[in-house]
Amino acid sequence: MARIFICAKQGTPAPVSFHFIAVVNGCVFAIEAKRPLFEPRTRVVALGEDENIGGHIEQVEHSALNRPQSAAAQIITLATMTSFAEQLLKRNEAYLEKGHRAIPLFTDLGFTPKKMIFSCIDARVNPIALLGLTDADEAVIVRTASGTPARNLNDIAAIDNLTTITELIVLKHTDCGATYMTEDQIRAHIRTHNADIDGQVLKDYAVGTTHDIVERTRQDVELIKSSPIVRKELRETVSGLLFDITTGKLTRIV
Ligand SMILES: [Zn+2]
Repeated sequence: MARIFICAKQGTPAPVSFHFIAVVNGCVFAIEAKRPLFEPRTRVVALGEDENIGGHIEQVEHSALNRPQSAAAQIITLATMTSFAEQLLKRNEAYLEKGHRAIPLFTDLGFTPKKMIFSCIDARVNPIALLGLTDADEAVIVRTASGTPARNLNDIAAIDNLTTITELIVLKHTDCGATYMTEDQIRAHIRTHNADIDGQVLKDYAVGTTHDIVERTRQDVELIKSSPIVRKELRETVSGLLFDITTGKLTRIV
């Protein structure tokens, strides 16, 4: 549900039709209304998407400034806007129509060896694309804020137990969001929105912020190397790589 305020200069003749663009839930919607301006039940459609994705105008409120038949202030309420999750379910229907090939079960694959890559959650940095990964690489990608393995050392032991991991990679990137904030700033944000939070929980909170991404890469590699729960031989396989988002070059730090 989204409320949008639309205003035109008082006294302006009502247009025959009105095209309007709105951004709701990160999606761009096109709204086209016939005279007189917007009407309830006017359909809104996500631009560039399936026509079934969208919603409708639920309610039109005229402001005190409005005059009959004039283009003046209106507030429209967009109802049943499709969430991103619902769009993904819709896209999956299209995916299924193209034909899905069953993914082999672990028992069919014989629990084959895997590589494991820790990468940042930053949407600009897609490890599959920038590393040219293929299915043959059998890489498990764990994406965390700043790409730190600090909170996922348990995952290494679990997957290693299942498939026997052969190599670990810590992948960092330039202009990482983790360099734009401090742990204290995030703790303050948490406290602002959770006034009754336990002090120890807040004190223990850390996400891996840094002012030096190269140094942070070394620290995260060391974190794996010194982990008592990661298999000893596996600890020695870990590399730290840095991807420059401007030049596209990948550099080994460790
Ligand atoms: Zn990042």
